[in-house]
Amino acid sequence: MKRTGLALVLLLIASVCQAGPVQIQGLRMWPAPDNTRLVFDLNAPVQHSLFTLSGPERLVIDLKNASLLTRMPAFDYDKSLLRGIRHARHGERNLRVVLDLKGKVRPKSFVLKPNREYGHRLVIDLHQAKTVSNNAPARTVQSMKRRPRDIIVAIDAGHGGEDPGAVGRRGTREKDIALAVARRLERLIARERGMRAVMIRSGDYYVGLQQRVKKARQHRADLFISLHADAFRSPKAKGSSVFVVSHKGATSETARGLAESENSADLIGGVSLEEMDPLTRYVVVDMLKNSTMEDSHAVARGVLGSLKHVNALHKNRVEQAGFKVLKAPDIPSILVEMAFISNPSEEKRLRSAKYQQRMAEAVMKGVRAYFRKDPPPGTLLAARDRTPEARRHVISRGDTLSGIANRYQVSVARLRDANGLRGDVLTVGKVLRIP
Ligand SMILES: [Zn+2]
Repeated sequence: MKRTGLALVLLLIASVCQAGPVQIQGLRMWPAPDNTRLVFDLNAPVQHSLFTLSGPERLVIDLKNASLLTRMPAFDYDKSLLRGIRHARHGERNLRVVLDLKGKVRPKSFVLKPNREYGHRLVIDLHQAKTVSNNAPARTVQSMKRRPRDIIVAIDAGHGGEDPGAVGRRGTREKDIALAVARRLERLIARERGMRAVMIRSGDYYVGLQQRVKKARQHRADLFISLHADAFRSPKAKGSSVFVVSHKGATSETARGLAESENSADLIGGVSLEEMDPLTRYVVVDMLKNSTMEDSHAVARGVLGSLKHVNALHKNRVEQAGFKVLKAPDIPSILVEMAFISNPSEEKRLRSAKYQQRMAEAVMKGVRAYFRKDPPPGTLLAARDRTPEARRHVISRGDTLSGIANRYQVSVARLRDANGLRGDVLTVGKVLRIP
């Protein structure tokens, strides 16, 4: 009898707790160059509303039936869009959080369900309101000039911010390893004449998958390299892999699983709302079927070839899987799974600066070889490449005069002049002088 009574009391307490206010158990801030993300950790989903106030700029967040369980963390607001955060009770049961801002923002908010890493969350994204001068596409004008340009390599460190990626047994997070190797690769590229690196993310914050591709395109990247570290159920799985995108399906079962887990980053990051519309995606896939696939394979083979001197290979060939981050329509793209973070001995290596450097150098080697062999027209590297061999072209089946002229960046007229050509008929096997 007494026992039942106690159980009843416990049950009552439990149900009272459930009906109590939603507790804010923690707050994280992820500042990125053009946005700042705030994440509230909650013990249950919360109803909320937002509005902005001007002079000075503020964002007000009202949380219904909520209370703050923790102290406001002492953030360093230096690199964020915020000046500070205040809070107060609002009405009897609600909590009001006021963000003091440095300027105008476009706010966005959404809730996230619990995942492996975190519980219920409320995410507030603050995007810097765009200024007109900031938006002008200066590069189109520049690229019209004839001056040889640098080859641009977009380096994409996987995951970031709220999304740690895979986590090793010793707590090593994929996002940190990816960024560390990305920074080393960036330095190597900066040393290379005629090449320039663009970092898709340069700190610990999340960038949406489509956003990553968009950034590479905005910078007119010639190559997109996404850096990751694998994880698998079995701690025995090991080795490095290089992937290109597949529009048909994955080459292996593990490749499919991997693509799913890498793609789900957006669910963790909470940006799946920003999906490409179906039409765009269709066009993207269609364009991929053409030359970019060949180029991606060529880079991937080169990188895989140099990686095997640094680590065992997981598979002896380039793999294919449907990674969203590789779906740039006109940029050759590869994804490198540097090693298995879920394998204790590979996790240990991934943490070492020496190994990270060797990894970056191996990728660099593959990239360098790819661009030396076939430099994009109009680049410094292409201009430097005019050795006597490069000044000759052996006609093969399917060649056209305009095609050859285009490839070597000369006019059809000059090509005709240099070779005494009159008609349009080309003889296969004949050698043309390139002026
Ligand atoms: Zn990853």
